[in-house]
Order: sequence, then C-alpha cells, then structure tokens
Amino acid sequence: MIVEVLAVGTELLLGQTVNTNASYLGEKLAELGVDAHYQTVVGDNHDRLVDAIHTAVGRADALIITGGLGPTQDDITRAAIGAATHRRMLFSEEAAARLRKFWKQMDRPFPESNLCQAEYPEGAVQLLNPRGTAPGLYLEHEDTQLFALPGVPAELRPMFDAHVIPRLRQEAGDDRVLVSRVLRTWGYGESMVAVLLDDLYHASTNPSMAFLASAGEVKIRLTAKAGSDTEALALIEPLEAEVRDRLGAAVFSVDDQTLEQILLDSLREKGWTIGTAESVTSGLVATRLSLTEGSSEVFRGSVVAYAGEVKQSLLGVLTQTVETYGVVSPETALAMAEGAARVLDVDVAVATTGVAGPDYLDYPPGTVSVAVRTPFGARTKLLRLPGDRERVRAYATTTALQLTRLGILGEWWED
Ligand code: ATP
Ligand code: MG
Repeated sequence: MIVEVLAVGTELLLGQTVNTNASYLGEKLAELGVDAHYQTVVGDNHDRLVDAIHTAVGRADALIITGGLGPTQDDITRAAIGAATHRRMLFSEEAAARLRKFWKQMDRPFPESNLCQAEYPEGAVQLLNPRGTAPGLYLEHEDTQLFALPGVPAELRPMFDAHVIPRLRQEAGDDRVLVSRVLRTWGYGESMVAVLLDDLYHASTNPSMAFLASAGEVKIRLTAKAGSDTEALALIEPLEAEVRDRLGAAVFSVDDQTLEQILLDSLREKGWTIGTAESVTSGLVATRLSLTEGSSEVFRGSVVAYAGEVKQSLLGVLTQTVETYGVVSPETALAMAEGAARVLDVDVAVATTGVAGPDYLDYPPGTVSVAVRTPFGARTKLLRLPGDRERVRAYATTTALQLTRLGILGEWWED
C-alpha cells in the first residue's frame, strides 16, 4: 500500500513553522509498515493545492492532507478537495450545531464565518476532532483513500490514531499488531553500530531492525508484526538478546526510560550516593541528576567550582596539580572528583572541567576532562567535543552522566 502526505500552509514554505507533522506521520506510517513515497508541502494557494491533490490521488492508495481546515480565508483545504475530486460542497447541520455548542461552552459569541468548517465535499465523512473545532475529512475517490486532518499537531495526532490507522490497516488487509522496542545506545557511533549488527540487520525481516542517530546516541528499533502483542514481543526477544550481547554496556535504556532514571536506579540498587564537582558544566550534571523523582535519596549535592581558586579552596585540588597538568586536565578533574567525594560525603563523584570556548584556555575550545570515582575505582576521560559553548556544555553533561553510569557498573573504559 502506497501512502502520500501533503502538508498545506505557506508558513511551512517560509520556514516559519517546522513541518513536524511530516516527521510524525512519516514515523507512524513506517511503523504501520506501509510505503510512503512522497511528502509534499504546498502553500495556501487554491490552484496549486488542487493540482497537488490531483497528482497524489493519481498515484497513491491513500493521501493524508494536513492543515488548512480552519475558519479563515487562507484555510482552503476543504474547497480544494472538492475541486480536485469534482464534488459539490454540502453543508452539515450536525457539524454546525457542534460548532455553535463548542463556542457556547466557551461562553463566547459564535463568529458566523466559522460555519465554513461545517462544509464537506459530497461523499465525504467528517471526522470528529476532540481537541479543536475543525473536523477532519475522509473520502474515497477513484480507489484512493483521502484524509484531511487539522494542522495543529495536538489535534492531528489523536485524529490520526483514531481515524486514519484503522482505515489504512483495513485497506492493507492486515489486522496484525505492530510492536516496536527501541534500544538506546551510547558510546559507539552510528556506523560502528551498523557494522557490529550488519549480519543481523540483513537477516532480520520480522522483527525488522532500524537505526536512528540523534544527540550523541544511537537508537536501534526492533519492530515485529504478529497476531498479538505477546507474540510480537516473543519475536523481538531473541533478537534483542543478541543485540545486547554484541553491544554490551553501550545499551543503556529501553523505550522511554531516561538516562537519569537508569542512573538513579543503579545507585539505589547498590545503596550508593552521588555528588558532582563541576566547572565547564557549572551544575548541569547536577540539574539532570535532580530532574527525576526520588533523586533526593541518592543525589547529595554539587560543588560548582568555576574559578581555579575555588577548585582549590572548596575541593582541595592541589596548586601543584593545576600548575603541572593544567586546569582543564584529566588530573585536575580527578582531583576535583576526589575532593567532591570527600566534602559531599558520597560514594560516587563525577567531575567536569574544560574549555567551552570560543577562546583558548591552554587547550582548544571543546576540550573537556571528565573524572568518575566510584567504590570500584576512578577513571578519567579527555574529550574533544565539537560545536559552540552550548553544545560543548550539553555534550559534556551527557558524557559525564554516561561515564558515571559505566563507572557504577564497573565497566571502565580505555582512556
Ligand atoms: P485550525 O483549525 O486550528 O486553524 P488548520 O487545519 O487550519 O487548523 P493550519 O491553519 O494550517 O491548520 O495551521 C494551524 C497551526 O498548526 C499553524 O499555525 C502551525 O502552528 C500548526 N501547523 C500547521 N501545519 C503544521 C505542520 N505540518 N507541522 C507542524 N505544525 C503545523
Ligand atoms: Mg488555520
């Protein structure tokens, strides 16, 4: 089954609104296992929209149009569908009554211009929009299923789930369920993950495997199709076990579990406490550790030691260490971690020091040292991170948390 997505809105062409509906629908359609061949964006122009609908209807089994269903002059999707499919526009008294009721509930006078939202092309079904006023549309035209959904993402998403998915499934003659599990990994780049899993990738069809690199991590999505959730999970499990076996501690979480949750859980399991000593990240690591509920059981505090003298006075870093190795060296980071473990009285301490840029500070911008100390021992890592100040600080924070996770597991890295 071949599906197309057509996003309507001049603001999308101008780059004023990011077309997040396209990425959302693209991902959902891939999960459904249907082929999406084209994604088009067209402005709020009647003739061009009619043309785009016409073209899509001529080549796709289903077309999903998003946006342009509102009540203003530039909302032209309803009329364009009517024109492209050569259908009369009808008026739904029922939809009109719903619109009036909606406005009444908000205790606001009803603008008559909104009645255009009760119009629909002959033969179309209006789709309920529980989060807004604009109803969607569903129409079968020349063997193509045609859907129109509102542009507002919060309205589009539940309507896609409720109205589009079941109809696409039915059309594809497939009542099996699709279950995905996402393994999140850190430490290997995308190409390395692809190499390590190459044979599995090619040998796996159900479940299928997909890679997604984002913000310093690589996600591996395993998707299975089966008669029930239980059957699908049973198909995923052996492949997941094999992937975990190959990637080891690089796999840090599954699905929506966050790195912070994983870290706090592993500390709790061990009965350990944690604290931070931060220079280049100035409290960002501590902020993320304290984001999660229940963090106060294990997270004890942080010393933000930005200036060299503060590293010495508060954390007891020796002048000799700073002078011999430099203030952003792994040796200084290690001394900061040891100092934090002492002054905060914690089992696990993580320290960061580095150059966020843009200026040099003995080392080039992007140089960051991280030290992690746990009851298993201590280890440092010297990083060269790309990007501007904000990115360097963000990467340094995530890296510090990831190295801490490994340190708690006793999975020490090569420096
Ligand atoms: P409404 O009834 O709320 O006016 P609509 O169907 O008319 O809905 P649009 O007028 O096209 O939708 O867009 C409304 C808002 O929805 C836009 O201002 C924008 O913020 C958001 N939006 C529209 N299209 C997209 C898209 N493709 N991706 C992300 N956001 C979008
Ligand atoms: Mg609108």
